[in-house]
Amino acid sequence: MIADHTGGSSRAGSLPLVASELAFDFTNTASGRGGPNELEHLREGRDVVIWARHAKAISDSDRDAALAALAADAGLATRLLAEALDLRDTIYRIGLSLSRRQQPDEQDRSQLAAIHAHCLACAKLSPFGDGFVWRWDAGQTLSEAIRGPIALSALTVLTQQNLARIKQCEGDHCGWLFFDTTKNRLRRWCEMSVCGNRAKVRAFRQRHFEAKATG
Ligand SMILES: [Zn+2]
Repeated sequence: MIADHTGGSSRAGSLPLVASELAFDFTNTASGRGGPNELEHLREGRDVVIWARHAKAISDSDRDAALAALAADAGLATRLLAEALDLRDTIYRIGLSLSRRQQPDEQDRSQLAAIHAHCLACAKLSPFGDGFVWRWDAGQTLSEAIRGPIALSALTVLTQQNLARIKQCEGDHCGWLFFDTTKNRLRRWCEMSVCGNRAKVRAFRQRHFEAKATG
């Protein structure tokens, strides 16, 4: 995802949601970690709220009320950002380890479980369709209303899904994680139209160069 990562304002409200799991879409609010093209889209508390609405974790009215609350309380905004980044980077480290077929750090697993338990304590089990869902009151517990569904998504993957489907995009300076839901499990890119095409162009140039060198 570097083609349109040109810096400037945060794209928290328009980032592609291509990870097939809310938890990994959340980790993809940063890219190119540790490299020259590192890009962070969660730079202040309001970015977290804007992304949460974009990812449909909260409603329009929740977003509007939250943005007003953050504007009036700088401490709330700082805390929300810190808590969101802590969860995001915990999930990222776990996902990265699993994508490399390594055991995630015990401390990260404990931290994810602790955040989940904390958020769940603020949730209500509410009727939805023929079943029930966890619901949070964003007006009362904004940080938990945003982190709750994300932590739940991460834990659902860890406890119920095929971990071999957790992958990291092979694109240079990308680093996005995704859950491969394709039938043949051969997905390699966050987005074929971005990192996939970039790699194709690179491979074409390489072949062209080699053909010239040997021709
Ligand atoms: Zn990518």
